[in-house]
Amino acid sequence: PQDGRSFRMAVIGSGPAGFYTAYKVMSKIENSVVDMYEHLPVPFGLVRFGVAPDHPEVKNCQDKFEEVAESPRFNFVGNISIGDHVGALPLRSLLPHYDAILFAYGASRDRTLGIPGEDNLTGIYSARAFVGWYNGLPEYSDLSPDLTRGEEAVVVGQGNVALDVARILLQDTSILKSTDITENAIETLQKSKVKRVRVVGRRGPLQAAFTIKEIRELMKLPSVGFEPVDESLIPQDLKSLPRPPRRIMEVLKKGSSTQNPSKKWSLDFRLSPKAFNASTPSSSQLGSMTFEKTELDPHSFDPTARAVRIGELVDVPASLAFRSIGYKSEALAGFSELNIPFDDMSGVIPNDHLGRVVNEDGLVTPLKGMYCAGWVKRGPTGVIASTMADAFQTADSIAEDWYSHASFLNPKDSKALGWEGVKEEAEKRGLRRVRWEDWKKIDAVEKQRGSEKGKEREKFNKVDDMLAVLE
Ligand code: FAD
Repeated sequence: PQDGRSFRMAVIGSGPAGFYTAYKVMSKIENSVVDMYEHLPVPFGLVRFGVAPDHPEVKNCQDKFEEVAESPRFNFVGNISIGDHVGALPLRSLLPHYDAILFAYGASRDRTLGIPGEDNLTGIYSARAFVGWYNGLPEYSDLSPDLTRGEEAVVVGQGNVALDVARILLQDTSILKSTDITENAIETLQKSKVKRVRVVGRRGPLQAAFTIKEIRELMKLPSVGFEPVDESLIPQDLKSLPRPPRRIMEVLKKGSSTQNPSKKWSLDFRLSPKAFNASTPSSSQLGSMTFEKTELDPHSFDPTARAVRIGELVDVPASLAFRSIGYKSEALAGFSELNIPFDDMSGVIPNDHLGRVVNEDGLVTPLKGMYCAGWVKRGPTGVIASTMADAFQTADSIAEDWYSHASFLNPKDSKALGWEGVKEEAEKRGLRRVRWEDWKKIDAVEKQRGSEKGKEREKFNKVDDMLAVLE
């Protein structure tokens, strides 16, 4: 290590990208100390607020994160947002106190369709908001989606998040009840009138982003039927397909065997969203959606084919619509002041694909001491396993740079005090840091509240309620 002093890194974000990078850096760089800044008082990012409540096994990665957090070389700095809004800590106040900063703050916005009706009709929700709401994300604790408006729901988009939304709408609430879904969400879902869910995509089954596990799960839901897929969209000779799409096509062909279903779902292919329509001319309530049919170029069975609109319109009844066309990352407030680049088009921090933040000045110059990992590095796609691989790659770059004596944020003979140096600035702003021990208290109370209701945990969905545990 450089002159024997600790390597100090600030991680911004406590999702899988932050934790896996911290883990690998701490194991590769002896004496490294990691301070992890998280805007909420509670850790784990989308593992807590994205992953569906009926997929508890996916959350097992938290065990590894707990292990990382127990290290004396790790400090959780929860309830501190990095930014320039009221109640946030400016990024610039971190720089004098660390050797490196890792941006792992994920994707906190969602993409929009930009079609008529989207902004002015009620009954349209982004998947990010709906998922955040049922998972207790404080930002959406007051969403109160009205699921009693009618029987027909449309989910726009055909990725796994779209299938999560469809499954939560169709799933028997007695099954959801024992998960960590919020009580509030259960009450709303119990009153739901939704009986028909269409999951709509612009392209065909061979181009869709969903994976087999999620499709299978929907096919197996009790009392839920599946509308058969138009056979012409599925290749006749499945044997020529690679294994993953072949298995998906087989499941789609087979469909569901539920007799007399009380609810139904379908995958509606080759439809491009054109407009959200009011239920009546004088209403502000969604009543239907208009789609334009598409054809695929070069052909339906090419997995990379593009959708080309063909001018033919289709109206689909919809009293509710969920937009599930992807999450989006943004520049952190303070980037422009510090000349840190952000690629608005792709929604990522420009990097050398190995996690080093670069200035795209034609020469691709790395910014000393700046790294990124996870969704903010590669864009908002990929599961936890791919986020882990990507985080490990960034950690390798950090360790390589440290051991090759590359330049970091501060000279090696400086003090780099980490959180001890930043603390005063945070206190001046009246910010209250939540430590790992504090989170463990919140965690214990959530589990206790859950056990009283026969469920795994009852999350607090308001920041004040989380902090009240620590009073
Ligand atoms: P995130 O998990 O989003 O973490 C980012 C963290 O940064 C958050 O905690 C956030 O609060 C914090 N943050 C943001 N801004 C700031 C700031 N200014 N200051 C401080 N902190 C900040 N993967 C699977 O493997 N299986 C699944 O079943 C699965 N289901 C999913 C369901 C949904 C709805 C979604 C959206 C994703 C799902 N994924 C699933 C994918 C998985 O969640 C992601 O791959 C992974 O969480 C990305 O990790 P990340 O650390 O980049 O981002």
